[in-house]
Amino acid sequence: MDNEEIWNTILGELEVVLSKANFTTWFKNTSILSNDGKTVVIGVPNSFSHEWLKNKYHNQILTSLKKLVPDLVEIKYKISTSKPPIIEKEREVKVQEIKKEINEIDNSGLNKDYIFENFIVSNSNRLAHATSLAVTKNPGGKKYNPLVIYGGVGLGKTHLMQAIGNELYKKKRNIKIIYAPCELFANEFVDAIQNKKMNVFKKKYRNADLVLIDDIQFLSGKEGTQEEFFHTFNSLHQTNKQIVLTSDCAPQAIPELTNRLSSRFSGGMVTDIKPPDLETRNAILKIKCKQKSLNLNDETISYIAENIYTNIRELEGALNRIATHSELCNEKLTHDNVVKILDGFISTNKTKNLNPNKIFKIISSFFSIRIEDLMGHRRNKELVYPRQLSMYLLRNEMNYSYPQIGKALGGKDHTTIMYGVDKIQKAIQKNHQMQRELSLIKEKLYL
Ligand code: ADP
Ligand code: MG
Repeated sequence: MDNEEIWNTILGELEVVLSKANFTTWFKNTSILSNDGKTVVIGVPNSFSHEWLKNKYHNQILTSLKKLVPDLVEIKYKISTSKPPIIEKEREVKVQEIKKEINEIDNSGLNKDYIFENFIVSNSNRLAHATSLAVTKNPGGKKYNPLVIYGGVGLGKTHLMQAIGNELYKKKRNIKIIYAPCELFANEFVDAIQNKKMNVFKKKYRNADLVLIDDIQFLSGKEGTQEEFFHTFNSLHQTNKQIVLTSDCAPQAIPELTNRLSSRFSGGMVTDIKPPDLETRNAILKIKCKQKSLNLNDETISYIAENIYTNIRELEGALNRIATHSELCNEKLTHDNVVKILDGFISTNKTKNLNPNKIFKIISSFFSIRIEDLMGHRRNKELVYPRQLSMYLLRNEMNYSYPQIGKALGGKDHTTIMYGVDKIQKAIQKNHQMQRELSLIKEKLYL
């Protein structure tokens, strides 16, 4: 087995246990740089992944790697921007898939379902929605150019961005709109250089009236593409053409992005979309059920809303599953039937398998601290955050009351608990890194 095969095997194993979002976030563009049978050096694309692989995934990597490299003594992580050939191949396949997807949609290059009329507005996306609408009233206007929408996966960024395109296309048929996932932009750029077609590339992007680039976090570490993006951006901006961008994090938080680009991105309007809260999930489900002519009672809707909390795509996925099932099996959609249909899709009875000890164990191993310290009273920063996170999880995942949490955490006053839960609740709204940590921890809880 060569290094490429070894690493692919490991990635294959990890892909199964991690969510797709975490897997792509942390393992994209990683490879084995060297391997002498004892020491394996793993190349990572940036310091961010470096930290996460080393601190959070080391044990998993070690266990898997030991099976293939039996004399393994040490794993080292090294930041390396050179991309291994396999990733290039994968990228090629992905870009082809994206291209195909785009060709399948109509001339404007946009998905016809992604329109404002279909977009459900709630507290978690109100501002993003309002600014997107504002852009359609006055495209290219100084205030909202560029418009950057950022947030986690499946929260509606692509939908909103394309809604802007669809709306403007409706108003003016001859408007030139370009929608491109950032990876496609990057790939076309590389192709253009290789085939000496830069003038065609430039013309395409710089002559558009509206340019929508999706998932600009993929610019990270791609110096050449960033340089070209910068010039494209300036050219469009100077001629008052509207630019809309999406990203999985705030522009300043994109790793390995030049300052001049991130400051350009922050020069218009930056707005985020947050995960929907319980009430919003309920509302979304109700509207989507209507759209899909699905007849579910309130109890069932609440059940789904309570159990699927990560994003809107998953809520929709659950409904699609129910719809398909009821079509195929012609079964009545009683609460019990729906629970059965969603079995496996959501971890049913999840709270049954959860207990405070499991939470404490996972938190302490995640942050490499001792359980006694987690339960204790020392107020070091390294302990307080994990402790408050435990409080938050006991409250939100297990519905424990504040006094119950205080008791479980080695006898703490309920006001301390209230403060801790509230602190995490507020911080999570803003802190992207914390959101990621929380979703990683939750994943472990329900594994
Ligand atoms: P993102 O680009 O943020 O990953 P998408 O825009 O692809 O998310 O949204 C995922 C799915 O959820 C899409 O089918 C989209 O139509 C749907 N969706 C997301 N947000 C909303 C919303 N507010 N109202 C209705 N549907 C939504
Ligand atoms: Mg998207």
